[in-house]
Amino acid sequence: MAQRGLDPIGPYPGTNTPWPSVCSVCGGTTAPTLTSIRKALKQGQGAGCDLCRRNGAICPEDAEDILRTAGAEPLEPFPGVKKPWRSRCLNDRCRREVSPAFDSLKNAHTGACKYCGGYGIRAEDDALVYLIVHLFLNAAKIGIAKVGSDRIEEHISIGWQTVATIEMLGHQARAVETTVLDLWRKELLLPYGATAADMPFAGYTETVSLADRSIDEVKDDLAQAVEGELGGAMRTPRSD
Ligand SMILES: [Zn+2]
Ligand SMILES: [Zn+2]
Repeated sequence: MAQRGLDPIGPYPGTNTPWPSVCSVCGGTTAPTLTSIRKALKQGQGAGCDLCRRNGAICPEDAEDILRTAGAEPLEPFPGVKKPWRSRCLNDRCRREVSPAFDSLKNAHTGACKYCGGYGIRAEDDALVYLIVHLFLNAAKIGIAKVGSDRIEEHISIGWQTVATIEMLGHQARAVETTVLDLWRKELLLPYGATAADMPFAGYTETVSLADRSIDEVKDDLAQAVEGELGGAMRTPRSD
């Protein structure tokens, strides 16, 4: 259990009974069986509970960017992946105080505000995937937005240029974005292409440097992800 970063709460209950324990990474409680712990160690998985491993090592700055991208401004420091995070909705017409859990923002993409749903994109919403570049920052960014929202305009107002926007349903847009980000981060292990200071409207965790990945390559990354998601139904990217 110690190798797994878990501190048992009670006595050993047997190999196949959930064993309540405290995660040394997030301080939360969890209850894996010893069998599953052994399997995870054999696979070389990192320490911590499922929630911690699913979210990886997160620095507070990245967590704040992900919160802003989901539509809220933090009112307190990052409290960890599963505690409610006191924050304020960024939608000017709402601005209510909310407390989403980081894990659901990052993994369920619920959007930060449960009242207005300003940034939360539901599965059947008309949405779009966009690819934008900033030539001074020498960076590209992928993102998703609801049709009719001003997300892209915000970025354009500080020098980003649209390379492509492709309309599709919310769940498709999310899948395409995830495919591209997984390629950049998990397969190619590319660092972010911009910093938090570069991006007042958030989203630097969705960027890549054009020094690491050329414009042609990022366009191709998007096209392949769209093809994988929509297949023959793919609409031609609109270039502006
Ligand atoms: Zn944990
Ligand atoms: Zn709101």
